[in-house]
Amino acid sequence: MSRTMAVVGGGVTGLACALRLTEISREKGAGWDVALLESGKRPGGVIATEKEKGCILESGPDALFTEKPWGVEFLKKLGLESEIIGTRAGFRKSFVFRRGRLHPVPEGFYLIAPSQLLPLMTTPLFSLKGKLRALGDLFLPAGPSNGDESLESFVTRRLGREVHDRLAQPMVAGIYSSRSSELSLKATFPRFLELERKYGSVIRGLMSAKRVPSRGPRYSLFVSLSGGMGSMAEKAAASLPAGTFKPGHAVKSLRYAGGKGSALEIAGDGFRLTADAVCLALPAYASADVIRGLSADLAGELDGIPYHTGATVNLLYGRRDVPHSLDGFGYVVPETEKLSVTGCTFSSVKFPGRAPEGTALLRAFAGGRDESGFFSLSDDDLAVAARREVEKALGIRAEPLLVRVARHPKSLPQYRVGHLEKAARIEERLREFPRLALAGNAYYGVGIPDCVRSGEQAAERMAEAVSRLFP
Ligand SMILES: Cc1cc2nc3c(=O)[nH]c(=O)nc-3n(C[C@H](O)[C@H](O)[C@H](O)COP(=O)(O)OP(=O)(O)OC[C@H]3O[C@@H](n4cnc5c(N)ncnc54)[C@H](O)[C@@H]3O)c2cc1C
Repeated sequence: MSRTMAVVGGGVTGLACALRLTEISREKGAGWDVALLESGKRPGGVIATEKEKGCILESGPDALFTEKPWGVEFLKKLGLESEIIGTRAGFRKSFVFRRGRLHPVPEGFYLIAPSQLLPLMTTPLFSLKGKLRALGDLFLPAGPSNGDESLESFVTRRLGREVHDRLAQPMVAGIYSSRSSELSLKATFPRFLELERKYGSVIRGLMSAKRVPSRGPRYSLFVSLSGGMGSMAEKAAASLPAGTFKPGHAVKSLRYAGGKGSALEIAGDGFRLTADAVCLALPAYASADVIRGLSADLAGELDGIPYHTGATVNLLYGRRDVPHSLDGFGYVVPETEKLSVTGCTFSSVKFPGRAPEGTALLRAFAGGRDESGFFSLSDDDLAVAARREVEKALGIRAEPLLVRVARHPKSLPQYRVGHLEKAARIEERLREFPRLALAGNAYYGVGIPDCVRSGEQAAERMAEAVSRLFP
């Protein structure tokens, strides 16, 4: 008898899960029916690329990190290897905004700490007192080795308040869109805790790591696709057997089709589907809503993972209208500056082919702070507010040639202190439901490579469950 495997949510996680299920089915000759149910019209979730006026406009993610291999492997599996593009060599630096000016991030500064001393000592970003305090990291004893702590607590403890407020906080917010006083270090950057434990100092640890000879990276640290990240989602959906991807299927509930432990019935407006195993590849709060009838306890745990809202504003200018040299990939803005834009990518510098010659494509990002006022603005007003901040930072006085706003409501999961314990409790409760898998950015990593891995692991879990039930 043919088995039905259902995946709910057509973002990159759900796509990776559905694709892995079809592979396993082929490998085993199992002939499973795989259904990927998506509430929206298109695949990709927050990943979306638009092409306009000769530009590649990313409204969601614009790159993927190559040190976690699952993203690049996914692109290769999709046959997109020849479309992978690296960041532009020669511009691999970033800036940080402080008191109306952009300052280069000191060379060798790795997210929260320096790996080189000379650039730290010569940067105008920190006071002499702040620099000497940062060097304290070389002498301070390691903190307690157990338990979680916030990123703010760790960085101020090791490197001092200035390094935290002026650089580490905005650099990390550029990835996690979270308040550093709440962000779990263990769930986001356990490597820094390991360095502290192993070397007694983050700086010394980073310096030693640099001395380990590299095998020579095949790709730059971040890569994209020549047609934009949206082409990954389109290709993934097109690689599934015909009819697998089902847009316009908003799932409302999940329950047992028969008694406890039986197949699961998925229901939405105007459709029902009984599946032998199900993966919910949704934001945690959306999974909670779907699952509530099946397990109020599991839903309660999922509700406990908060999400922030984000927005991107793509801005195209004539290159001559941007006085700044744009000799980097963009800038980040510390929370202490009290601005709405938390970072801005110089998109046409970061990747080739993003905008026509003679223009500059910039992308402002806002999110992760208390932004209730900002996000209640209309698209036009939000664009004006973002423009004002970017134009001030870069000295622009001209009108943009193009402005595109994209909103991402409740799209940024918050890994607060204690997150890993929360994720472990969710896994524990999930044991009660062997036919059910949860995947996505809510649990063990927010980046695209993490989501791909999470989706693929969920597929393995579903396959194992079905093999056990129907040997
Ligand atoms: C603005 C922004 C920029 C980012 N930049 C980067 C970056 O540069 N690099 C990087 O690696 N990561 C980046 N990230 C993070 C990364 O893009 C996301 O974590 C990842 O794409 C999430 O994928 P997902 O499939 O888990 O979730 P989503 O993309 O949220 O997909 C979930 C899908 O489920 C659907 N859905 C919701 N409810 C239901 C329902 N009830 N029934 C059916 N379908 C439903 C939604 O419509 C959606 O399509 C960024 C995120 C944002 C928001």
